[in-house]
Amino acid sequence: MWEALERIIPDIRDRAEVTLVGTPLTHERFLRRHRGSYGRAIAAGEALFPGATTPLTGLLCCGDSTFPGIGLPAVAASGAIAANTLAPVEKHLELLGCVQVIGNR
Ligand SMILES: Cc1cc2nc3c(=O)[nH]c(=O)nc-3n(C[C@H](O)[C@H](O)[C@H](O)COP(=O)(O)OP(=O)(O)OC[C@H]3O[C@@H](n4cnc5c(N)ncnc54)[C@H](O)[C@@H]3O)c2cc1C
Repeated sequence: MWEALERIIPDIRDRAEVTLVGTPLTHERFLRRHRGSYGRAIAAGEALFPGATTPLTGLLCCGDSTFPGIGLPAVAASGAIAANTLAPVEKHLELLGCVQVIGNR
């Protein structure tokens, strides 16, 4: 990887202040990833990742094993979905006293 980068930035090794090597073993050890993988692989069109709710009342899940799946944007969305499941927009509006305003539109 260094050699590939050096083709574009020849002195990159000298310019790097901190270098850390991560392998699938690192992911397995520190992130508890099965065999150091990226996460569940569910092919598009075959199935969907599970949603935020679980069979246990009050227990919600988010992260890359839940809908919409792997990757930071998807994980952030899964957190938003879990939060919205706990407190849907109608509840926010109710708290803000906006329900009447919306209702009159
Ligand atoms: C090498 C690699 C490159 C990636 N590159 C990209 C990329 O370029 N762009 C992108 O969008 N996504 C990328 N991803 C995917 C992205 O990093 C993950 O989908 C995302 O970080 C998952 O977030 P998460 O919160 O679900 O889980 P994680 O980020 O894995 O967080 C889970 C946390 O729980 C902790 N934990 C586990 N078990 C326990 C326990 N028993 N007690 C307490 N804590 C525990 C772990 O230590 C970890 O900190 C990459 C993933 C890998 C592995």
